[in-house]
Amino acid sequence: MTDTIKLDARIPSGPIEQGWDKARFEMKLVNPANKRRHTVLVVGSGLAGASASASLGELGYNVKCFCFQDSPRRAHSIAAQGGINAAKNYPNDGDSVYRLFYDTVKGGDFRAREANVYRLAQNSVHIIDQCVAQGVPFAREYGGLLENRSFGGTQVSRTFYARGQTGQQLLLGAYQALERQVDAGTVTMYPRSEMLDLIVIDGQARGIVVRNLVTGELSVHLADAVILATGGYGNVYYLSTNAKGSNATAIWRAYKRGALFANPCFTQIHPTCIPVSGEYQSKLTLMSESLRNDGRIWVPKQHGDKRPPNEIPEEDRDYYLERRYPSFGNLVPRDVASRNAKAICDQGLGVGETGLGVYLDLSEAIDRFGIETIRERYGNLFDMYQRITDEDPYETPMRIYPAIHYTMGGLWVDYQLQSTVPGLFVLGEANFSDHGSNRLGASAMMQGLSDGYFIIPYTIGDYLATAKPAKVTPSHPEAQAALASTRRGIEKLLGIKGKRSADSFHRELGRIIWDCCGMSRSAAGLKEAIDRIRTLREEFWQNLMVPGWSSDLNQPLERAGRVADFLELGELMCIDALDRNESCGGHFREEYQTPDGEPQRDDEHYSHVAAWAYTGPDNPPELSKEPLQFNYVHPSQRSYK
Ligand SMILES: Cc1cc2nc3c(=O)[nH]c(=O)nc-3n(C[C@H](O)[C@H](O)[C@H](O)COP(=O)(O)OP(=O)(O)OC[C@H]3O[C@@H](n4cnc5c(N)ncnc54)[C@H](O)[C@@H]3O)c2cc1C
Repeated sequence: MTDTIKLDARIPSGPIEQGWDKARFEMKLVNPANKRRHTVLVVGSGLAGASASASLGELGYNVKCFCFQDSPRRAHSIAAQGGINAAKNYPNDGDSVYRLFYDTVKGGDFRAREANVYRLAQNSVHIIDQCVAQGVPFAREYGGLLENRSFGGTQVSRTFYARGQTGQQLLLGAYQALERQVDAGTVTMYPRSEMLDLIVIDGQARGIVVRNLVTGELSVHLADAVILATGGYGNVYYLSTNAKGSNATAIWRAYKRGALFANPCFTQIHPTCIPVSGEYQSKLTLMSESLRNDGRIWVPKQHGDKRPPNEIPEEDRDYYLERRYPSFGNLVPRDVASRNAKAICDQGLGVGETGLGVYLDLSEAIDRFGIETIRERYGNLFDMYQRITDEDPYETPMRIYPAIHYTMGGLWVDYQLQSTVPGLFVLGEANFSDHGSNRLGASAMMQGLSDGYFIIPYTIGDYLATAKPAKVTPSHPEAQAALASTRRGIEKLLGIKGKRSADSFHRELGRIIWDCCGMSRSAAGLKEAIDRIRTLREEFWQNLMVPGWSSDLNQPLERAGRVADFLELGELMCIDALDRNESCGGHFREEYQTPDGEPQRDDEHYSHVAAWAYTGPDNPPELSKEPLQFNYVHPSQRSYK
């Protein structure tokens, strides 16, 4: 592994508060009359993709937007529950743009780029105004102001919410803005369409190869720029809180065409999910972190205490987060809450049949505020819990356990959200940008909407006005080569005719990664995981069974392609985790911890973004490093005590 590519993040010089203004002023503009002459492809219609498509359509660009679902409204963003952060300071409790910036850099354990995070905090206040103007029904206080609640890693209330359905309401807002442009003719929507390759011509991203998931037809779409807003890769673990369809194919194939992949091992385990209940489960369900506002987390103090939770008196309960972290209590960041839940269960104090669970108890809040208030705040989450577990959380504490939830890693982008392939921009969870090694709750939607509504409309104009992409046609040899290799890839999957389903390989891969590159990692475990993934991948290419054919709706075929990519990405995650000889945020290397079990960073050697380049099949990836500088929030040992 050698250092090869010099990464220029294009961070504006001067004071951080003025950076984005300065950058915008220095950007070139596309004349309004010329915008319609530029075609932009947007892959993804979640919060990041829908907001980008709507904004670019409104500006007058000719936009084509793709998603694999039957409607943009079904993007995984619809599942987001708890809320979206913004430094509005409505509760007057001490918040500011600077505090949101500070909390995010610290929460990410000093592995994020300061300039990006500052801009994100600045944009946060505009997002709320934009969404309110669209009619997003945020919760309101009695006096009419928008209401706020708290999320982990902060001591202020800055999270705007719409019950436990904030993502759904935000996506409906973005979707309406998108459909308005569809109606106006600036955006053409391509649902049930899966991007399978990126077309790079003369070093610039110029198009994509797409499979129509209903007819199987492959087609080439060319443009002046390509935007990927394709979400995260948490489903590499098989069991996750992500929608079943979420996958890494778009970013992985862009990686193979030259886009660098940053910090792939930075994945987030969420502390409050419904525990795994059986071998054949295919999905995990999140109980929003917002419940930690009013819920208290505890386990019985005594080993083997099998009494029903309501019969265990106060003095026999261990509220371990409140005990260990008196300042933040149940609102410590996700990485801290998850690790503590694992540690307490590893000590044999976990609850439920498997012993892999802790109680999340809202009984005190129900007594204090009344059942109706709690129902208003979290009603849909309680209903969901009851339907899945057949236990009534109004009567008995919920059982929760950590599960994979979000990926901070993703394609490397500079300050303009451009990848290392000119003309390829990456937004939302698909990029690595703003969260360092641990994302704070309610910050993902903020980032996706900041990228889509407030950043890409500027930066894409600068690219188009500067790069002036020449005209290309589908007969271009690179476009035809990408089309042919996609076809060969599909035929290869169908031609193996082995005995195992893609799902069974995926489940096995997920187990390996969860065990060795999940909540805690070690050099020995990661080396073993790399060997096991390679062996599994070999078997995949010899023993995969995909029924049916390519010229039709074929979901096992779709899954097989995605699993093939996960089998490669999983290895890169382990390589990255092995290379990072420190603990930070969600990346907890057992060898590097403080005496009381907190992550031990190594700023001298690892204060950088690790960006990996593809070098061909069976060749090791090459590492480039973007050094991180902290001029405003000085790295310290994170403490929530
Ligand atoms: C259960 C749950 C609850 C959450 N709650 C919160 C919360 O309260 N607050 C918060 O801030 N964050 C939350 N998050 C995180 C947040 O929801 C996501 O990070 C965010 O919605 C991602 O948005 P996105 O637009 O980047 O991607 P997504 O919403 O995942 O959209 C991806 C889009 O890309 C398309 N796509 C993907 N691959 C292809 C391809 N190859 N070809 C064509 N199209 C493709 C999909 O069809 C889809 O339209 C939650 C996450 C989960 C799992």
